[in-house]
Amino acid sequence: MGYNCVVLIKQVPDTKKITGDAMNDDGTVKRSALPAIFNPEDLNALELALQIKEQYGGRITVISMGLPAAIAVLRDSLYRGADDAILITDPRCAASDTLATSYILSCAVKKLDYDVVLCGRQAIDGDTAQVGPQTAEKLEITQITYVEELEQLDGKTITARRNIGNGWQRVKAELPVLLTVVGSANEPRVAAARKLMKYKKAMSKIEVLQKIKNENSDADEKDINELIEHKCTELEKAGLLIKQWDLDTIEADLSWCGQSGSPTKVHRIQSVVLTAKESKNIEPSEKGIVDMIHELITDKIIA
Ligand code: FAD
Repeated sequence: MGYNCVVLIKQVPDTKKITGDAMNDDGTVKRSALPAIFNPEDLNALELALQIKEQYGGRITVISMGLPAAIAVLRDSLYRGADDAILITDPRCAASDTLATSYILSCAVKKLDYDVVLCGRQAIDGDTAQVGPQTAEKLEITQITYVEELEQLDGKTITARRNIGNGWQRVKAELPVLLTVVGSANEPRVAAARKLMKYKKAMSKIEVLQKIKNENSDADEKDINELIEHKCTELEKAGLLIKQWDLDTIEADLSWCGQSGSPTKVHRIQSVVLTAKESKNIEPSEKGIVDMIHELITDKIIA
């Protein structure tokens, strides 16, 4: 028996490359000034899905909500071993906070037959780590966060080990389940040469449209549409169509999407510069360490 895995992947700006030139005056990041990459922990989530597929069988579908540029991470997932890729793109998704993002992603997941949904623990740009847990809530399924190792799948249940920072937890849950995966879970594999050769021809409808318009600049709209439909059918038959869904395809309630579905309001963006104002010498003895820990707990710096 196999398990159908859905992996949620996000294209993010490479925040490791932030310099002064990549910042706007108001403290926000100039996304266009940074290279766009596969969110690192989403690669770990994809790798875990690939390991499930290798051990038990099943299919892997990757989903990304974003601008058409996010097709790059979807194609990269196909190179690494995913079977299907779906881009959710729609101008009505703009200004979605994590609540709206997870609602939209959950509507897309509901359209699929799934046993395990996998996310990265956190995206390196938004940094909230909310989307995974919120998506599980909207799907009304169990979530296991901070997954570092999958121990067993037995048809009805999953057993996974969570890294909780100062120790481990082994959790058993019924399927379907949503996992958020941490960076230490595995070493993501690189693209396979044979898949790269196959899927470099994979395209989404928006790319087909662009290509056909470029190649047939004199054709009228009706002919262009026919050519697009023909090419998309051809790609689909060959398993090379990157599906493109909008909010109508996933039957999303528009009041839960975009600005209207986003209760988060950015009040102010502030640059915080940390400066060490005072220092304290700790006596290098057991008592010195115990006193320091006591002080940190009292100040609620550690729990
Ligand atoms: P996290 O919760 O840290 O991500 C955890 C995991 O969830 C990821 O590892 C990945 O597996 C999955 N995931 C997250 N996002 C996606 C995705 N898009 N597709 C697939 N999987 C995903 N962003 C914009 O681009 N345009 C806007 O106009 C915009 N407006 C915003 C307005 C407000 C008020 C706020 C608060 C945020 C806005 N954002 C906007 C940012 C947007 O909310 C976040 O990018 C998004 O909700 C994901 O949150 P995160 O980055 O913290 O992801």
